Amino acid sequence: MSTLLLHHTSYLDHLTPVGHPERPDRLRAIDRILEHEKFQALERDLAPVGALEDIARAHPMAYVDMLHNLAPDEGLARVDADTTMSPGTWEAALRGVGGACRAVDEVVSKTVKNAFSASRPPGHHAEKDRAMGFCFFNNAAVAARYAQKVHGFDRVAIVDFDVHHGNGTQDIFWSDPTVMYCSTHQMPLYPGSGAADETGDAGTIVNAPLDPGSGGAEFREAMDAVILPRLSGFEPDLVIISAGFDAHARDPLGGLNLTETDFAWATRALMEISDKHCDGRVVSLLEGGYDLEGLARSVAAHLLTLMDA
Ligand SMILES: [Zn+2]
Repeated sequence: MSTLLLHHTSYLDHLTPVGHPERPDRLRAIDRILEHEKFQALERDLAPVGALEDIARAHPMAYVDMLHNLAPDEGLARVDADTTMSPGTWEAALRGVGGACRAVDEVVSKTVKNAFSASRPPGHHAEKDRAMGFCFFNNAAVAARYAQKVHGFDRVAIVDFDVHHGNGTQDIFWSDPTVMYCSTHQMPLYPGSGAADETGDAGTIVNAPLDPGSGGAEFREAMDAVILPRLSGFEPDLVIISAGFDAHARDPLGGLNLTETDFAWATRALMEISDKHCDGRVVSLLEGGYDLEGLARSVAAHLLTLMDA
């Protein structure tokens, strides 16, 4: 079975201020590297517009309406210090959740083995009712709830190796015993959350912070010693990856020293746990990654691993 890539040109229409790291060129760099013949076997599909009822399982409708009302007809509307909406942001954000839910559908129905959604804006900093850190809707959280409500799964795991802690995902699932959130991230770093003693009301939050300057050895140790045993013990019905690639050594926002080889290793490790517990069902969603070359090479390594299922 193959790997599905979900994409859409509307993701390029979410504009940010000049010099902002979360920019349309990120997806252009990914598109360019995926033109290589090594990716011919990828199934490719356009991300649909997500349904408001799906978003509402992770965010209150009052928050969704507030964002919709903020969306400008021209220019940029500031949502927080580093998060802005342009006229194209609303559709891009809706298709981000739409791509994530479609990825769940296709993996569950076994039309593909696994799926990667190359969307922007990213999602893991978006809390229940707060846009921040370049994020509006928490795609991973919406996809997890969608898998539970629409496909009847009991337990969904979200594993996040973005260099930043996914405070939004942690916020949404803090008291939910049916969703495990596991994160490796640099600490201290934005947004400041993610200490190892933040475990959630249900004990299903698993944080493995890494010191600035940590490289592949420290990352793999955190995965092997903390994340992977907890993930395996949870026996998930679906594994969702919050795939941020800003822990790459080249990244300008992060201070970790991972390489694309480390991301491929982590992808393989998560696929092995998924093979053991849930028939290999993996849905991966793009989060951060701000050095264009480091991002493109990391996405390529991640996808080649997913395709080698
Ligand atoms: Zn990040």
